[in-house]
Amino acid sequence: MQRVLVTGGAGFIGSNFVRYLLQHEPEVLVINLDLLTYAGSLENLRHLPDEQRHIFVRGDICDADLVYRLFIQYEIDTVVHFAAESHVDRSILGPAQFIQTNIVGTFTLLEAARKAWIEDKMVPLEQCRFHHVSTDEVFGSLEPHEPPFRETNPYAPNSPYSASKAASDHLVRAYAHTYGLPVTITNCSNNYGPYQFPEKLIPLMILNALQGKPLPVYGDGQQIRDWLYVEDHCEAILGVLKRGRLGETYNIGGNNQPTNLYIVHTICDLLDELRPESPHRPHRNLIRFVADRPGHDRRYAMDITKIRQELGWQPRETLESGLRKTVLWYLSNLEWVSSILKRPDFQAWLENNYAS
Ligand code: NAD
Repeated sequence: MQRVLVTGGAGFIGSNFVRYLLQHEPEVLVINLDLLTYAGSLENLRHLPDEQRHIFVRGDICDADLVYRLFIQYEIDTVVHFAAESHVDRSILGPAQFIQTNIVGTFTLLEAARKAWIEDKMVPLEQCRFHHVSTDEVFGSLEPHEPPFRETNPYAPNSPYSASKAASDHLVRAYAHTYGLPVTITNCSNNYGPYQFPEKLIPLMILNALQGKPLPVYGDGQQIRDWLYVEDHCEAILGVLKRGRLGETYNIGGNNQPTNLYIVHTICDLLDELRPESPHRPHRNLIRFVADRPGHDRRYAMDITKIRQELGWQPRETLESGLRKTVLWYLSNLEWVSSILKRPDFQAWLENNYAS
C-alpha cells in the first residue's frame, strides 16, 4: 500500500480516515477524490498531519475519464471507497442521486481499477487492493428476538439508501468473482464522532441542545442501533486493508444496542455536566417526539466475531467514552460548527424536515 485513492475523503468518515492513515502509515501518499457535495467540506481536512502526503482532487466518482486518469497519473495501488450519498431521509425525498452516486459511482471506480490493474497491468495485481466501505443497513431490520447480523445474513435493504449500498456491494463482489479484482468489503454500524455533518442524530442533538432548540426524536425513540466511534472504524478498515482476506466481507460494530432515546438522554446529561452555566439545563426538557420516518428500521445489531477472531480488532471506545469525547469535540470546535450551521442549504434542510 503506497498510493491510496480515498473517495469521499472530505466527508465525515472519509476525512477521519485520511487523518488516521497519514498518522499511522508514514510511507503512504493519499489522493483524496471528493465532489464536495453538501456533506463534504475542506474544513474537515484542516491541520492534517504530514499534509504534503495528501493531494485533494475535487471531482465526481461517476466521471470515468477523471477516475481512470487518477489511477494512471498516481499509479494507484489501493482504493478505499467512502464516497456516497449517505443520509436515509434524503434518500426518501430524492432517491435518484443515491442510485447515481452509490451504484453508478461504484461501478465507475471498479471499471477504472479493472482497466488499470488487470488490462493495463499498471501495478502488479498482488500489490493492489480495492476496499469498499458499506453499511449494516443492507441487512434490513431485526426483530427483538433475532441474533445480530452476521456476514452470512441475506441482504434485505429497506430504504433507497440501503438498497443502493446493497447494489454497490454486489457489484464489488461480482468484480472479484468475474475479473479477479482484489477486493474486500466492510459493513459497519452507525458511526459518530468528530466532523459529522449535523443532519445525523448525534451531532444534530448536540448542536440543537447548545442553541436551546428542540431535540426532534423520531416516533417513540425506541429504535435500536449499534454505534461505533469513528476512529475505531478507521482502525478496523486499516486492519482489513493490511490483513483482511481477499474477496471477504467483514462486519464492524461497537458491540452495543442502545435505543435512540438513550443516546439523546446521554447527550443531554453530558451537556448538563459539561456546561453547568447553560440556561437550557436540564437539556432533556428540549426533547420533542416527531412523526416517525416511513419504513423506519426498528433494530440493527452487528456480530463482530469474524473480524475479532481473524484480525484481532475490537472497538477501543465504549458508547459512554465515545459520546463524551464527541460532545467535548463539538464544544471545543465551535468554529467548525458555526461554519456548517451558517450554510443556507443546511438551514433550509432543517426547516423542511423538522418544521413541527
Ligand atoms: P458523508 O455523507 O459524510 O460523506 C460522503 C462524502 O462523499 C462527502 O464528502 C461527499 O462530498 C462525497 N461525495 C458524494 N458524492 C460524490 C461523488 N459523486 N463523487 C465524489 N465524492 C462524492 O458520509 P459518511 O457518513 O462519511 O459515510 C462514508 C461511507 O461510509 C459511505 O459509503 C456510507 O455508506 C458508509 N457508512 C457510513 C456510516 C455512518 O454511520 N455514517 C456507517 C456505515 C457505513
